[in-house]
Amino acid sequence: MVHFVGAGPGAPDLITVRGAEHLKKADIVIYAGSLVNPVLLGLCRESARIYNSAEMTLPEVLDICTKGHAEGWDIVRLHTGDSSIYGAIREQMDALAAEGIPYDVIPGVSSFCGAAAELQAEYTLPGVSQTVIITRMAGRTPVPEKEALERLAAHGATMVIFLSAGMLSEVSAALLAGAYTEDTPAAIVYKATWPEQKIVRCTVGTLAAAGAEQGISKTALILVGDFLGDGYEKSRLYDPNFETGFRRREASYES
Ligand code: SAH
Repeated sequence: MVHFVGAGPGAPDLITVRGAEHLKKADIVIYAGSLVNPVLLGLCRESARIYNSAEMTLPEVLDICTKGHAEGWDIVRLHTGDSSIYGAIREQMDALAAEGIPYDVIPGVSSFCGAAAELQAEYTLPGVSQTVIITRMAGRTPVPEKEALERLAAHGATMVIFLSAGMLSEVSAALLAGAYTEDTPAAIVYKATWPEQKIVRCTVGTLAAAGAEQGISKTALILVGDFLGDGYEKSRLYDPNFETGFRRREASYES
């Protein structure tokens, strides 16, 4: 069986308990060496065969899975963050299914959650934004025209931009073509939760200069929106005047 495991954003203790258990038992581990923290491999058995997928092609990864499965081994495919976000997991699952190889998926803490935690920020502030747009600039992988950053930026919602730290000027220009202004707060989070993490708070207008100043051009998230500012409304859920399925309105607040 092949287990697709989300390794989390970097700090080795941010893998899930289930993911760690699979890693401890695995006979074969194929990990995304570009972004998975190698400290995690310390959980593996000494006898485990370990491959770095950063140096491999899809057919090579599948070949190891197919042969390993035929020999009865337990296989972990270790992806960075959560495998559902830019994980290239679908093509692997489809190929395994075509070979009749069973697999399951263990979620991970995506880097966008790690980044919010490090910033101590909330993406969905009442009165500010109730929507998180996760996207990227087109690179070698194209982005469908209807999802061009300028068009998504029209909403002015909270935005998390992956895979685009090398294109900060273009990101800034696209955001300004939408609902954001030069002064809209932004942040660049480099290697969230790793020891070498860097957090740069800036604005949409100063994104490129801020990134250049800190020498950040990869392995970073660009976060944009007024959730990084000071204003918001309090949550209705915890409002003493508000009843939920779990809690009656407090008597002293009844009018
Ligand atoms: N599946 C991963 C994303 C893989 S795509 C996840 O859920 O996080 C790789 C991109 O993710 C990087 O270019 C960068 O934009 C972002 N990324 C991954 N780990 C990161 C981290 N620890 N800090 C900041 N950005 C990260």
